[in-house]
Amino acid sequence: MIALSLAEIADITGGRPHDIPDPSVQVTGPVVYDSREVRPGSLFAAFVGERVDGHDYAERAIAAGAVGVLATRPVGVPAIVVPDVVAALGALARAVVARLGTDVVALTGSAGKTSTKDLIAQVLQHHAPTVWTPGNLNNEIGLPITTLRVTEDTQHLVLEMGARGIGHIRYLTGLTPPRIGLVLNVGTAHIGEFGGREQIAQAKGELVEALPAEAEGGVAVLNADDLLVRSMAARTKARTVLFGEADDAEIRATEVRMTDKGQPSFTLHTPTGCSDVTLRLYGEHHVSNALAAAAVAHVLGMSALEIATALSGAGTLSRWRMEVTERADGVTIVNDAYNANPESMRAALRALAAMGGGGSADGGRTWAVLGPMAELGDDALAEHDAVGRLVVRLNVSKLVAVGGREASWLQLGAYNEGSWGEESVLVSDAQAAVDLLRSELRPGDVVLVKASRSAGLERVAQALLEGT
Ligand code: ATP
Ligand code: MG
Repeated sequence: MIALSLAEIADITGGRPHDIPDPSVQVTGPVVYDSREVRPGSLFAAFVGERVDGHDYAERAIAAGAVGVLATRPVGVPAIVVPDVVAALGALARAVVARLGTDVVALTGSAGKTSTKDLIAQVLQHHAPTVWTPGNLNNEIGLPITTLRVTEDTQHLVLEMGARGIGHIRYLTGLTPPRIGLVLNVGTAHIGEFGGREQIAQAKGELVEALPAEAEGGVAVLNADDLLVRSMAARTKARTVLFGEADDAEIRATEVRMTDKGQPSFTLHTPTGCSDVTLRLYGEHHVSNALAAAAVAHVLGMSALEIATALSGAGTLSRWRMEVTERADGVTIVNDAYNANPESMRAALRALAAMGGGGSADGGRTWAVLGPMAELGDDALAEHDAVGRLVVRLNVSKLVAVGGREASWLQLGAYNEGSWGEESVLVSDAQAAVDLLRSELRPGDVVLVKASRSAGLERVAQALLEGT
């Protein structure tokens, strides 16, 4: 991060210094809220969580090398006391971006934000020094913490923005005003909380409303294949760049196909020319994510060839998203247990089907180990039923439905679609799934593990990979 003295931090946040012998001491290291991540020169942000109070760790943070603490009460070590630590971090992020004039790329959408952010980061790195959201730190805490990583050299700051409700993205864009805003898709993630797809579109569209006008360099990068995203063009004064498979998209893919391994390949078209891409990622949905990344890179001046080369070399940066590992015995585990919603379930199942050659008799079998999709409100039954049916239609060999009610709906869908009996198994929890799979798997099998975050199904993938 750029160096800021404790006095400057107090000034920016409007906080009161406490127990600070020397206000000119500079924060040079990362801002952290876990005392185990403190580095020399860090600023430690003390949050009061449900189980842990960060203030109890202030002393430990200072002992580990932090030079100050952002806190809501004095803690006996150098601290800046503010009414609200989240707001104070936001103020710091806003001040740093304003001071450096950092060019911000922000992206949102229902599915694929983290994957696309990782692709954008890897492509832009070939172009200029880039800082990006690590993992999934896409909220009012993660966004300032990411932003505070920028230095004088940083040219691009790529920020994932998650929307929990109306006004949330507006708040985030107020902290780090983006010049380029990308909206990937409007699906049904968190639909239970929002009330409907239109409301989700309303919330995500706040990103394009926040962009500067075209004359000031504002660019809205929108998915041409998603009507609710396309129509956001009417909500912005920025220039619009469309990506997708639609004919009128400025950044397009043609010749989309899957390699034998299940990795998408396509020809990328941008106004600078066309170039072939083969992704190192699994699942056709990544074509859309890659086009989105290409559109951002195009706007920032990269050629089709440069973009295609960078995309073809890009891997997964964030864990538990379509992480493919082949065991020594020839069983392949696809860990997509990070999260799930109906769109991402469908995408992952299609990827599984492609990886297994559609359940052909000579190849290995494909296993869908699926748990609940959370937060679907009244649509929960229908959506789980639809996923169960899709498993059958895609010719996946086996369904292992993990959990309670939702799992039985998955199984029911498979039964209704294809009269599946012994092809589908209902197990009560992750351990039962592991026990079943350990005895059943054989070389050549491909296993997809996927559910909403709360199900914690990564344990299944990890257990199946242990000792290999
Ligand atoms: P979150 O809201 O949890 O931050 P996200 O939008 O960052 O999610 P990712 O973490 O990239 O999304 O991916 C989540 C899931 O969605 C993964 O299972 C991934 O395979 C799937 N996915 C990624 N891109 C797409 C896409 N374009 N369409 C549908 N599903 C996708
Ligand atoms: Mg994410």
